Amino acid sequence: MASYDDNNIFAKILRGEIPCNKCDEDDLTLSFYDIAPQAPVHVLVIPKGRYVDYANFVAHASVEEIAGFSAAIHRVAEKTGISETGYRIISNIGNDGHQDVPHLHMHVLGGGAMGPMLAKRP
Ligand code: AMP
Repeated sequence: MASYDDNNIFAKILRGEIPCNKCDEDDLTLSFYDIAPQAPVHVLVIPKGRYVDYANFVAHASVEEIAGFSAAIHRVAEKTGISETGYRIISNIGNDGHQDVPHLHMHVLGGGAMGPMLAKRP
């Protein structure tokens, strides 16, 4: 697995070098609306620590960071009004997961029926 790249776009958002449309923040996490939403509600939840992906996070983050990340996902669902109707959470990992930004992020998607989990393979 690649080492953490401090120039990735989410690291720049965390440092305040580029703006985001914030949904939620606490000491351990930042959540902001995806710039190219794929659902009526599409928020990205990220830890403030330097973690490339979910596997790296689970292997190296503290119990507090892991609990805080889970709590932030729940808070975002509550704040955006999708917790009653249901929603989907996705975290892409590595090449086969089609992860574009190498800082752990959970996609929180909702606001309508999400359809099949994956596109059918040709
Ligand atoms: P992934 O393919 O799982 O790495 O997802 C990366 C996500 O980050 C995509 O859904 C992008 O639309 C989103 N994204 C990229 N740049 C920004 C940005 N500056 N602000 C908000 N979302 C972004």
